[in-house]
Amino acid sequence: MTSGTFDNLLHRFVLNDSLHQLFDAVNAISVQGYDEQRRVIYWNKGSERLYGYSKEEAEGQKLEDLIIPDEIRDIVIKGHNAWLKTGKEIPASEITLRHKSGKKVFVFSSHVLFVNQYGVRQMYCIDIDLKDLRQAQAQANFKEHMLESIFDAIPDLFFLMKSDGTVIDYYSSNTGDFFSKSNDFMGKNISTLFADVKVNGFQKQMESALKHKSNTRFEYEYNVHQIPKHFEARVRFIKEYDQVMVIIRDISEQHKAAELIRHQAYYDNLTSLPNRFLSLEQLSQLLKETQRSNEKIAVLFLDLDDFKKINDSLGHEVGDKLLIKCVKRLKSAIRKQDLIGRLGGDEFIVLLKGYKTHKAITHATESLLKAFRTPFNLDGRELILTVSIGIAISPDDGDSASDLLRNADIAMYQAKELGRNTYSFFTKEMNVFMQRRSELEAQMHGALERQEFEVYYQPQIDVKKRKVIGAEALIRWNNPTLGNILPDEFIPVAEQTGLIVSIGELVIRQAVRFLSEWEKEHNVPFNMAVNLSPRQFRDEGLFTFIRDQLKLLNVAPDQLELEITEGLLLSGKSYIKETLNKINKLGIKLAMDDFGTGYSSLGYLREFSFDVLKMDRAFVQGITTNKSDYDLVKATIAMSRSLDLLVVAEGVETKAQLQMLEDLGCDIVQGFYFSKPLSKQAFFGFIKSFCYDK
Ligand code: C2E
Ligand code: CA
Ligand code: CA
Repeated sequence: MTSGTFDNLLHRFVLNDSLHQLFDAVNAISVQGYDEQRRVIYWNKGSERLYGYSKEEAEGQKLEDLIIPDEIRDIVIKGHNAWLKTGKEIPASEITLRHKSGKKVFVFSSHVLFVNQYGVRQMYCIDIDLKDLRQAQAQANFKEHMLESIFDAIPDLFFLMKSDGTVIDYYSSNTGDFFSKSNDFMGKNISTLFADVKVNGFQKQMESALKHKSNTRFEYEYNVHQIPKHFEARVRFIKEYDQVMVIIRDISEQHKAAELIRHQAYYDNLTSLPNRFLSLEQLSQLLKETQRSNEKIAVLFLDLDDFKKINDSLGHEVGDKLLIKCVKRLKSAIRKQDLIGRLGGDEFIVLLKGYKTHKAITHATESLLKAFRTPFNLDGRELILTVSIGIAISPDDGDSASDLLRNADIAMYQAKELGRNTYSFFTKEMNVFMQRRSELEAQMHGALERQEFEVYYQPQIDVKKRKVIGAEALIRWNNPTLGNILPDEFIPVAEQTGLIVSIGELVIRQAVRFLSEWEKEHNVPFNMAVNLSPRQFRDEGLFTFIRDQLKLLNVAPDQLELEITEGLLLSGKSYIKETLNKINKLGIKLAMDDFGTGYSSLGYLREFSFDVLKMDRAFVQGITTNKSDYDLVKATIAMSRSLDLLVVAEGVETKAQLQMLEDLGCDIVQGFYFSKPLSKQAFFGFIKSFCYDK
């Protein structure tokens, strides 16, 4: 059949030309007409666009050869035949057909069967392109899938709600951790969801967020399977849809980390006690609470006695163990409502509350001291440890945490002075003392470099020879801010800061130089007495330093005399004995200073090879007025004779005193009666004009 004859045929089948004109005009819709053999008899512009075949290409071709994919070819043919035979129409449906290129074409296909005027049946298909719709749908599907994957991957809990809080959707990947079924919540109001499980703060905060319609974030706690957990809720308003999204996240881990950091910032690592910072915070809090009531807060400053020694000799590990044991004992000695903290090192703070009288506070403090009465057992070793306690009480001794702590510290210092293992209440006088002390400490810093120290010399006079035979070197400190400070005041500070070692070296250097200059000028031996405090003996280099200085200036060691006090020997340290022996061996003389004030033990005088005994000025000054002083001086001189010691009387101020000492057989005198301590220059001048009976 030629195409021409088919054309003619076509015209015979045409149902209605005006309808075709209409179809021709709409190219957005594909309209195809088929004869009973499913040959194309009509193919509009829309069909050309949708399927790629031109009208000329399509006409006369069979439907199943043109646009029907192989998979549904038989179904289509059968359906069409059935329609023709039985009248069972092919329903309109979404269907995937085929483009000329082979690509899929998604359409919504409707079909009609006409019988034309010749009694011939024709099927017309009207296909609407679903490509855009499909794409949009696919996109929507994709988005939904993506969201689902996101919700799956994120452990958060999502609630989508109406702006009034009614839950309209819900997502959660690990429902086990939160809730069992999502439909538990559908249609319910978010703010009431957690009401029955008593979630801290959730309901209130949620209600407020919904009321104010503002994006917020809040945290709350909730026990999941009896385990306390922390959650974060973020509320986001989606204004366009008048909806609210609530995202709930389990932040227990972050919370734990934050807690850990907080703990480290507020608590001591070793003992887990509140640290200085937190202790002061707690004290401030207590002070605020008791501001209106008459209640007193007692701040106890505790310092373990000689803990440094334990650390130094047994090591830090043992020290740490001991600290932990101490804390146990301290805790057992206080009541539940009292607070304890570690200020650092071996310092602790105890806050006692509710006590109304000094007596009650004293009692509580004594039980703390008592807690240390039994020795500590550490790795099979018995250790005795005591504690010194200073007490400051609010509001009398201060109304701020820092004032109270400082004053308790000052009182603790006083307890140490009292001999340790005791307590002391803060008094106003202590404050003045401590202020001065910290001033001294501050000014002493760098004073050596600024050359504020100078050595003065007080002449020592041989009573029989009536001649100056030596001097005692005495340190002087002239500070631009504080003026002249006496050694009795600053030496203890220098001892505590350790600066005494450098100051001591300065004195020795100057004293030895004095000796060398003296020798050059006078060519006779001179006795130079230098004071040494116990702290200087802890310096391992002490002996070598002295020896090297003597060597350096070629000064005979027996011209140097070192004055020490009984306190140094009392400790019984072996290194002290060793150093004293070396000093003695080199030929340096040794003097027992301040005799009469301490134990005045003969034992020490025998045990160590002393050369000189210095009677304390307190007794010397009393010999003319006080019988017991006179007796003591007399006895001391007699004893020195038997021990072959030279006796020096210091603090001689009057002629009468001098006379009496001479009568008792004292060898050497020293005191204001002859001269105050002098600068080196003044000393050399003094010598020139010296006359015993001036
Ligand atoms: P000390 O060893 O008993 O020194 C004697 C003190 O008595 C000196 O006081 C001296 O100035 C004072 N003095 C001397 N004659 C008289 C007197 O007739 N009447 C009175 N009332 N006092 C008199 P200074 O210089 O103030 O020294 C006080 C203490 O400081 C010394 O007591 C000594 O223990 C210590 N010290 C002084 N210089 C040094 C030093 O270089 N090193 C060390 N470690 N301690 C020193
Ligand atoms: Ca002395
Ligand atoms: Ca003395």
